[in-house]
Amino acid sequence: MVAALAKPIGAIGAVGLSVAGEIAYEDGVVMTGNLPLSGLPLRAILKNRLELPVFLDNDGNCAAIAEAHRLTSDMSRHLVVLTLGTGVGGGAIINGQLLRGHSGLGAELGHLVVWADGPDCFGVCPNRGCLEALCSGAALARDGRMSALRAPGSALAEVLSRTGRVGAEDVVDIARTGDLHAQAVMRDFGRWLGVGLSSLINIFEPVLIAIGGGLSQAGDLFLSVAVDELASRTAPARREQVKIQLARSGPHASVVGASLLASRLLRSQSSAPLAAGADAMV
Ligand SMILES: [Zn+2]
Repeated sequence: MVAALAKPIGAIGAVGLSVAGEIAYEDGVVMTGNLPLSGLPLRAILKNRLELPVFLDNDGNCAAIAEAHRLTSDMSRHLVVLTLGTGVGGGAIINGQLLRGHSGLGAELGHLVVWADGPDCFGVCPNRGCLEALCSGAALARDGRMSALRAPGSALAEVLSRTGRVGAEDVVDIARTGDLHAQAVMRDFGRWLGVGLSSLINIFEPVLIAIGGGLSQAGDLFLSVAVDELASRTAPARREQVKIQLARSGPHASVVGASLLASRLLRSQSSAPLAAGADAMV
């Protein structure tokens, strides 16, 4: 791919990679994730293969970098991004700095626990009741299936008997038709999201929380429920100054963020002058 792109673009300065998994940031090693890359020194392998500087980060962090790039300075300096897809990713930019923790494994916002005795989380997470266990596409599919089993004759039950499964997209599509069972599943989703958002506001005091990822396209079905829920759980002083909105950086946010990360780090390593304020967050 890099060779094919190099032809029309000319010289490629660096490669930025967004990885759906936990990254030991300083070492460029994939620790865990949904792809079978655990323990792989991905940056070193690609750097040798491509003979280019390579930068990689977790997809939630990359999405946060992309979102911050589109915002005014105050919002971009105190920003939390949640990406609701098959799983839940996230990134937090605090005082203009992307929060990564000791080795890059921190700020895993999708594993914030919102229900101590909730359902088991997905993937390699040993926890239960995490945001990802309740507010992800995988959670929506599970809850849609449970609703179908509880309500024979419902539209969700019809999908389950016809196809043998219920997907997150089925729950969203059927909720949009006005179906009460599917709408109840979406409301629960919004409620748990609101519980999580309340904690994120209490911890980080962001100016903006942006909700991205594929499921953000169904935001009309859950976002107002989430905002109502967090309103009753968050002190007014913190609640009133935070905006909750859908992310603006689009479905390719993490890819865009990876390229921004690479270009900023490349410039910071060279003697080229840095654009004012543009490099603080990486
Ligand atoms: Zn978890």
